Amino acid sequence: MDNNIIHSLEITACRRRIDIVNMIYHAKTGHIGGSLSSVDLLTALYYHVMDLEKIKAKSPDRDRFVLSKGHSVEGFYAILADCGFFPKEELSTYAQFHTRLACHPTSKVPGVEVCTGSLGHGLPVAVGMALGMQRDGSGGHVYVVMGDGEQAEGSVWEAAMAGPTYHLDNLTAIVDRNHLQISGNTENVMCLEPLADRYRAFGWNVVEICGNDFSQMIPALTTQVPGKPTAIISDTIKGKGVSFMENLAAWHHKVPTEEQYHQAIDELNAHLQQLTK
Ligand SMILES: [Mg+2]
Repeated sequence: MDNNIIHSLEITACRRRIDIVNMIYHAKTGHIGGSLSSVDLLTALYYHVMDLEKIKAKSPDRDRFVLSKGHSVEGFYAILADCGFFPKEELSTYAQFHTRLACHPTSKVPGVEVCTGSLGHGLPVAVGMALGMQRDGSGGHVYVVMGDGEQAEGSVWEAAMAGPTYHLDNLTAIVDRNHLQISGNTENVMCLEPLADRYRAFGWNVVEICGNDFSQMIPALTTQVPGKPTAIISDTIKGKGVSFMENLAAWHHKVPTEEQYHQAIDELNAHLQQLTK
């Protein structure tokens, strides 16, 4: 991997983290921990992997992105705005009355393919998209990001059976494996391990990476195995980038106080300064 590309993606992701913290603090609502864990994955997809011109043109050959863990919407909106799908000023309306930037993604928002947020729906929808695109001979690829807590939904595993059945090598499912969900550690709430082996047993090409490391994400997101869908078990840190939020389930759905907000922004700005000096 080109170090300049990685460096540039790190800078972009840090800027989007600042957007996430600002949106949630000002709206007084949001899912900050999961947005911060998954924003690197979304940054890799939107700023490096997917062809945004085709997406903006609604080309039948476009790549499709599905944020199955729809509650982590703040990073998604911040990226869509920065990539020019809608004006950046609109981010300040997040979660306000009459906004189209609701607390879960809806297809009213330019760039959002499908309404999500009811957990366990994204992978089945993505399988349907990939199957349709395969039959239409579309060159696009479908990427879906799920939560790890979301793996407890039965519909995930119905779709996990269907993907390999239809040889959907145009589908990549990514699990944001931050090891936490709203009520605690995933292994205490509903044991997921051995998660990679479970996807392998269902017939997927499985790759295990660190989902906060672009040098691992880019090759995983751009490599396909003929005849098989790919599952990326993406180890991440919930709350990544803000020291006092990292690895704490309490930050799944919590708004920082004024003091915590300033501390978070100061930390992220210091990191950004370090990256850009
Ligand atoms: Mg999680």
